[in-house]
Amino acid sequence: MVTRTIYTVAELHSVIVKHKSDGKTVGFVPTMGALHPGHLTLMQKSLDENGITVCSVYVNPTQFDKQEDLDSYPQVLDNDVALLDSIGVDYCFAPSNAEVYPNGMDYAVDVNLDGIDEKLEGEHRPGHFAGVVQVVHRLLEIVKPHKLYMGQKDFQQFSIIGKMIDDLKMPTVLVVCPISREDSGLARSSRNARLSPIDRARACIINQTLLEAKEDITTLSLEALISRARKRMNWEWTDLEYFEIIDGYTLEPISNVRHHSYIVAALAVWIGGVRLIDNCILLKE
Ligand code: AMP
Repeated sequence: MVTRTIYTVAELHSVIVKHKSDGKTVGFVPTMGALHPGHLTLMQKSLDENGITVCSVYVNPTQFDKQEDLDSYPQVLDNDVALLDSIGVDYCFAPSNAEVYPNGMDYAVDVNLDGIDEKLEGEHRPGHFAGVVQVVHRLLEIVKPHKLYMGQKDFQQFSIIGKMIDDLKMPTVLVVCPISREDSGLARSSRNARLSPIDRARACIINQTLLEAKEDITTLSLEALISRARKRMNWEWTDLEYFEIIDGYTLEPISNVRHHSYIVAALAVWIGGVRLIDNCILLKE
């Protein structure tokens, strides 16, 4: 079947109700478009596990803390639909702001996130996660999927959405997909296209630093591990915003490796004017 693009909630509802009544399960992959092979790994997992797969392409204004980032976000719907079609995704949902927010954008979802939205990205991008929670909550309300697919690339994002689903007892299972990387180890991102060839090559330092931390998590002290990583990321062409070693459940920085069964290194760094985030699970028992 050719990927069908749907622009309205009413039309999407009617096709989903029909598929569900035929006994099909629905997998859902929310995106902001400018799709790359990393996104497609999520779609493929959904295709493998569900009767139908819906991908949304929607650049959500409420999660941008800077208007210029919103204005410059790439919008290439025809290209996105061609990519979705190439792997057999059933539906591309590309709504307008009025379809997503018929009562206006100025409201917050009432949910207890235990503060995991406040650190790391939350500290550096005020309002960002309130917008992410708002849009994913609304999209889940519209699509009502059996399974929701998100990337480990945005570690804090999927953690927050997992908490929201639990807290609000939403009837959807969150499936987290591994980080898809370029051959150099750079995590795939729509932002990579904005890197110059030299900065793109330099950016492989991110994954190297994370892998080094993973290798030594049980042998080096945390202080040594963190200070080595911060030094490794310190060049005249980098501007490291944060490098933290955190508990994978609470997202709090840890002070003793032996007290945690799930440990993650997470970072944000500017290279060539582009903000890149990445992470690595250092240990999970
Ligand atoms: P975005 O369009 O950037 O909002 O991303 C849509 C979804 O794709 C999110 O769940 C991301 O975590 C996921 N994603 C983006 N890049 C990657 C990647 N390199 N590997 C795995 N998932 C990714």
